[in-house]
Amino acid sequence: MLSFMQFLINHRPSRLPSWRMAFVVAGIVIVSWVVPAVAASSFQQVPGVYRQLVGSLQVTALFDGVVMLPRGYLHDLSSASLESLLDRRYVPESAKGLQTAVNAYLVHWGEHWTLVDTGTANCFGPELGQVLDNLRSAGQRPEDIDTVLLTHAHPDHLCGLLDREGHMAYPNATVWLSAEDADYWLNPEAQTKAPEAMRGLFDMARRAVAPYEAAGRFKRFTKDNKFAPGITALSSHGHTPGHTSWFFEGGDGQYLLIWGDIVHYHAVQFTNPTASFEFDSDRQQAIATRQALLARAAEQGWWVAGAHLPFPGLGHVRVEQSGGYRWVPAEFSPIPAENEAVQHK
Ligand SMILES: [Zn+2]
Repeated sequence: MLSFMQFLINHRPSRLPSWRMAFVVAGIVIVSWVVPAVAASSFQQVPGVYRQLVGSLQVTALFDGVVMLPRGYLHDLSSASLESLLDRRYVPESAKGLQTAVNAYLVHWGEHWTLVDTGTANCFGPELGQVLDNLRSAGQRPEDIDTVLLTHAHPDHLCGLLDREGHMAYPNATVWLSAEDADYWLNPEAQTKAPEAMRGLFDMARRAVAPYEAAGRFKRFTKDNKFAPGITALSSHGHTPGHTSWFFEGGDGQYLLIWGDIVHYHAVQFTNPTASFEFDSDRQQAIATRQALLARAAEQGWWVAGAHLPFPGLGHVRVEQSGGYRWVPAEFSPIPAENEAVQHK
C-alpha cells in the first residue's frame, strides 16, 4: 500500500516541488503556498462561441478575433468630444488603436444553416480568422452550411469564405452578395479608381468568391430578390455601396437584425451616430443609415447582432434621455427549455 506521503507526492500539483510537499506532510508548514506559475502558452481563451434563441431561431455568435482601430479613423467629431466619449468606457487600447471585435453569426432555422458573414480567414493575420474553428467548436460541420449571406464585400466579412489553405470553407453553400457590392468590389476598373489604401481589398474580395463563382454558387442579389420566408435583405448602404443588413423573423414577436458594419466604435457611435469611419465608402450616407437603423431597432425592440460590437455582439439598442443611443448587451443565459418563453423587456 502506498504511504500517505507517497500518495500526496503522486497527486501534487504538477509544478509543486516534492520537497515543499514534504514540509506539508510533516506538519511543518514553514513556506507559504506559492501559486505555481502557469506557462503563458497554456493559458488560452476558451472558444469564441455564444448561443441565443430568438423566437424559434437558433443563433450562434462566432468570434473571429479582434482588430485595433485607430482613433484617427473616426471622423466628423472633435477630438474633445472623442476624449469625453471614451472617458471611463474602458475599451482596451494599444498603440495600434481601440480593440474592436470581428463576429459572424450562424442562424439555424427549419432544416437550414445560414451563416451571416465569415470573418477574416488569412486576410488580417494569424491572430484572427477563428470563425471556422469556432464553428467546429460549436459542434457544426462546415459542409452543413447551405447559405452564406454577406453584409458586404470587405475582407473581414468574406475572406472566411476560404479556409486557411485557400479552399472553399463551406463547400455546399450558396453565397449571396448584393449586386452593388459585387459590381464595385469585384470590378478591376473600380479598383484602379479607388483610393490607394483600398485597392488591396478588391483582390481579397475576388479571391474569396472565385471558387464559389466557378462552382455556380455565387449569387448577386438586387432589391427585388426574395429569400426564404422570414428573411429579408435590408439595404443599409453607405459603409459600402451595397451594404446589407439581414433581418430575420423568429416568431413569437421576436426579430433579429444582423446589421453588419453599422457601428465600428461602440463607445462612440451609439452616443454620437454622426461620427463616421475612415473606410465608409460614402460617409454621409453611412451616417444617415446608422441613424435610421438605430432609431428603428430601438423603437421596434429588435435583437441586434453587430459584426464589430463586443463579442458576442448580441443585444438591444435603447434611446438615451440625454440624446443618442445606448447598447444593451445580451446577458449570458441558459437556453430555455422548449415552450418556456422568456420575455426581454
Ligand atoms: Zn467590417
